[in-house]
Amino acid sequence: MNHPHWPAQSRRKQTTIKAMTELSPPTDLSTWQQHTQGMSAEAILAWAVETFGDGLTFASSLGAEDQVVTDLIAQAELPISIFTLDTGRLFQETYELIQRTEERYGHRIRIMFPDRREIEEMVEKHGINLFRDSVEKRQLCCRLRKIHPLRRAFAGKRAWICGLRRDQSVTRAELQPVEWDAVNSLVKVSPLWDWSNDQVWAFVRERGVPYNPLHDKGFLSIGCASCTRAVQPGEDIRAGRWWWEEPEKKECGLHIVNGKVVRGGQD
Ligand code: SF4
Repeated sequence: MNHPHWPAQSRRKQTTIKAMTELSPPTDLSTWQQHTQGMSAEAILAWAVETFGDGLTFASSLGAEDQVVTDLIAQAELPISIFTLDTGRLFQETYELIQRTEERYGHRIRIMFPDRREIEEMVEKHGINLFRDSVEKRQLCCRLRKIHPLRRAFAGKRAWICGLRRDQSVTRAELQPVEWDAVNSLVKVSPLWDWSNDQVWAFVRERGVPYNPLHDKGFLSIGCASCTRAVQPGEDIRAGRWWWEEPEKKECGLHIVNGKVVRGGQD
């Protein structure tokens, strides 16, 4: 199958933006936050393209929210590059979803892999399932399998899109449509910031958006197979991840909201 790229940038108004990573929040941040407050998800995405141009990328975790964002990008033919992380420990269902998504939208998703030498060294030293031994070793595994590839994908970018919603957990209650991501030194754009879970699933069903069948088996948040399990009705979304750890130590360290580290978009 031939996989064409998203429509060329030349089909939209171009902004000549130097691709660079900023080290502190842009001075326009508060203006952007006010400007995007009342916008729809589609309008936020279009605004992000106009504002950041080629300096914008979408980090898809292939969760239901991110699949909605992919659909919105495809519908509007927005020139936004999409990537995901393959940690090497994903569910087979996730690999199938990548293929179905590419076929549905006719677009190859860029897949970022960990550095082979880093993983070989880590496994040699700590064992294949080191993440069960301690929080430190679990964080090491997440760092090498997720954060390092994520940093490579973010190189030269100014902003990234993620599928976070403010009602996903208490740590996300203050989420804004546009924020400064101090961990990655990038602007973070969350077009679904004010969507409910019901809205996401209504959209998925209505549009026939491809989604991971594990969601139908009680998996709310799907990451690595070794670190993800189904949850009971009423349990917090995070109860299905790293369940052997204390709740406050469960994050990957990819986001900071109001000074608190919250989970990454790729876990
Ligand atoms: Fe490693 Fe588990 Fe983190 Fe995946 S979620 S990178 S297997 S510790």
